[in-house]
Amino acid sequence: MARTIVHLDADAFFASVEQAADTRLRGKPMAVGGESRGIIASASYEARKFGIYTPMPTARARKLCPRLIVLPGDYERYEQFSNWMFGYAYDFTPDVEQTSIDEGYFDLTSNHKKPALEIALTIRKAIGQSLKISVSEGIASNKLISQIASKLHKPAAFQNVPGGQEKQFLHSLPNKWLPGIGPKTAVRLNAAGLADIGQIAATPVDLLSLLLGGQAPVLRQFANGIDERPLIPAREPQKTFSQQETFNEDVTDEEYVEAVLRRMADRLFATVREEGRSVRTLTVKVRYNDRDENQRAESLREPTDLETDVYGRLRGLLGEAWQRRVSLRMVSLKLSNVYDGVFRSELPLETAAKNHEARERLAVVLDELRRNKGWSVVLRGHDLRLRDAPRDLAHEHAQPRLRISVNRGTPRVTPARATTYVPLRVRSYYTFLDSTLSPAAIADCAKQHGIPAVALTDIGNLHGAVEFAQAAKRAGIKPIFGTELRVNDNPLLLYVESARGYHNLNRLLSQKAEMGGRASPRAQTFLKRREDQRRRSSSRFCFGCRAR
Ligand SMILES: [Mg+2]
Repeated sequence: MARTIVHLDADAFFASVEQAADTRLRGKPMAVGGESRGIIASASYEARKFGIYTPMPTARARKLCPRLIVLPGDYERYEQFSNWMFGYAYDFTPDVEQTSIDEGYFDLTSNHKKPALEIALTIRKAIGQSLKISVSEGIASNKLISQIASKLHKPAAFQNVPGGQEKQFLHSLPNKWLPGIGPKTAVRLNAAGLADIGQIAATPVDLLSLLLGGQAPVLRQFANGIDERPLIPAREPQKTFSQQETFNEDVTDEEYVEAVLRRMADRLFATVREEGRSVRTLTVKVRYNDRDENQRAESLREPTDLETDVYGRLRGLLGEAWQRRVSLRMVSLKLSNVYDGVFRSELPLETAAKNHEARERLAVVLDELRRNKGWSVVLRGHDLRLRDAPRDLAHEHAQPRLRISVNRGTPRVTPARATTYVPLRVRSYYTFLDSTLSPAAIADCAKQHGIPAVALTDIGNLHGAVEFAQAAKRAGIKPIFGTELRVNDNPLLLYVESARGYHNLNRLLSQKAEMGGRASPRAQTFLKRREDQRRRSSSRFCFGCRAR
């Protein structure tokens, strides 16, 4: 049966919403700029006349148009407008598939009350009158044609491609209009004399396969105006990316669950990037062993397409969702509030923007490597954690650990709350330089994520302590210094909490240095005693320090 699909796409959405919300902005060249990264995310049509496009560095846009008004994005408002906009489509049909914040399809096949064209016009008029934003619509027998029809003559486009005229409509268009043909593929096709969609349609599949690989059959169908992709009306009004994992056994190990969430983020964001999108909202859901569920969501200030932007938030969300002290059977991560395009900097000026750009480049390389060599060709820290089974924390909690405090002369051994921690090795920074975080960046990162204290260690020395202390002071976090020594071939982590402890540790290290790397007899006795205690308590311990 012939279908009637409408593709709805708002014109210059963020800029239009800002102009709708503030009458003073109407008719003026204005843009919405990525707040921290200095790029234009959306430009009004008045601004586009000056040659401003997205994404373009804000600084360059200002040069092209000195009067340009640039506003930081108000993404909550855009999401609200998006809901209202699609609300008009829902008035006529439940079959709405929202593919991004300002784009989607709706299916009018089974609506017999009014002609489809009339409905599409009504929706567009209502959106224009009540929301004061302009939209483009394409009406056709499938998704592909309706989408191209809405985008071909923006803004305020309204194009109907009657059934049977799909080929005619498509054939003179350049090949880049077909989904899946990016700039690189387009160049390859042009070189092969297949610049127009009509030429692709007329090429046998086996020949096309040489240029397009496995994509060839689908693209050839598309080129002939055939697209059988169904419309996927979601119960939720929006497209999301999500993954869940059910554990073989109930899990109590929070660190393990966090690693699972990070791995999910890795996979989901790889798809987000593949589709050229960004997301703003994260939702972590847990299911307890009695099937009761709980979830927590958080929205970022700006949409992102990088898992590294959300790693730090996953722990907090998990902590908030996992409220009952009950083991977990399942955990899931959902990314929603999907935006088209990437909000990435082309002209990084600040350190934060530079770091972000470096992570963007890294993500692209990782994606490429994983596509070609398999997922596990590169592993992150949390992947290594997932190689081991979750720990049985319920059991471990029953055996209190020991914490030893020695900076006031007499060693005191006190039971400690079971905390797991990873020594942050400043050595990596001094060895690999800017491929890892500097002590100052670690302090800033801790501040950003509300971590009250951070401990930094090096092996056998206190490198970076001064830089770290200054940065921590600026960031308002408590710095803890440490070092790692080897005693009887076992690593021993020592932490200090005060100037006195720092002094003692320095003395210990310099004595060791004087003895040509061996600890002095006094230090040896001391370290031996710590090592024995460590072994008895069978856990790492702090030295002269209360970590929190
Ligand atoms: Mg749009």
